[in-house]
Amino acid sequence: MKKKLVILYGGRSAEREVSVLSAESVLKAVDYTAFSVNVYFITKDGDFVAAGVFEATPHADDHLPTNETYDKSKVMPASAIYEKDAVVFPVLHGPMGEDGSIQGFLEILKMPYIGPNITHASVTMDKIMAKHVFESVGVPQVPYVALTNLVETAEKIKETAKKLGFPVFVKPANMGSSVGISKAENEAELAAAIKEAGLYDSRILIERGVNAREIEVAVLGNETVASTWPGEVVKDVAFYDYQSKYIDNRITMDIPAKIDTQTMTQMRTFAETAYRAVSGTGLSRCDFFLTTDGEIFLNEINAIPGFTQFSMYPLLWENMGISYADLIKKLVELAEQKFSERE
Ligand code: ADP
Ligand code: MG
Ligand code: MG
Repeated sequence: MKKKLVILYGGRSAEREVSVLSAESVLKAVDYTAFSVNVYFITKDGDFVAAGVFEATPHADDHLPTNETYDKSKVMPASAIYEKDAVVFPVLHGPMGEDGSIQGFLEILKMPYIGPNITHASVTMDKIMAKHVFESVGVPQVPYVALTNLVETAEKIKETAKKLGFPVFVKPANMGSSVGISKAENEAELAAAIKEAGLYDSRILIERGVNAREIEVAVLGNETVASTWPGEVVKDVAFYDYQSKYIDNRITMDIPAKIDTQTMTQMRTFAETAYRAVSGTGLSRCDFFLTTDGEIFLNEINAIPGFTQFSMYPLLWENMGISYADLIKKLVELAEQKFSERE
């Protein structure tokens, strides 16, 4: 008997395009001797759409439906994804996918699912909440100011400038893939950046800008946590924004990162500590800054990292000897383990 895997992709967040690429990669890599796959697309309006049942590897040129191409007659109630003994892989990024909401829905449906539980997803999706949790376990972070009440903005700008200096990075608390993030070099730019971030969230994080290499560690597990040697995101642009990440492809990866073993080991320890602190379940990519002075800062945890075959997360595991297809199997096992412990 093949196991049923249910892939959810698309979604309502600004990161939905990344999700389509990740879902297509998963669909093409699944071991179809072990799994058959039901695929559902979530439109930008939040409708669920049946997007196919796969018993064998799809053709390399086949593409999943998107907001432009989906079949409106296949819209269905969300709960119709339920199938007994199926395991769900929410290949969704950002708000309504990676923030605990879909995870809560799957808990209610009583379906095992891959990836973060509600706490893990919601804490890491909120960059301000995540800071508090990382702080509580002594994982170093760049100095920051949290704006949680936009009425205070005028005074906060002065206060922030005084505390952090310039440049600063301004981020909506609940977002990813660099959406809504900007760098500000002075008070006027800071005010504009807050306005921009405010389009996405009323909770805004302002961080001291650091001159740093970007080093990432992959983490996998529930109670037993494993991590990888880090990889480096090598950029030819100072700011790793949405355009350079996904459109221009101006990024290469160095795996393992060319840094000393002691620094790499320290990062792995911080990654595992931070992961446990957020109630880590399934997987995460922990992203660090390594400054020119050798200081390590945890930047963020991505609870459902980009998951195409060319993404950092699977490549970090490949470097540890775990193939992309085996990684999917391992994630399914972790989902079932977590589910059986709760039932
Ligand atoms: P996202 O969740 O959207 O990926 P990040 O916090 O990772 O948000 O920010 C996106 C990118 O912006 C980072 O990968 C990095 O290139 C740059 N960046 C963010 N914060 C800082 C900072 N404090 N100093 C320097 N660069 C930063
Ligand atoms: Mg992120
Ligand atoms: Mg990031």
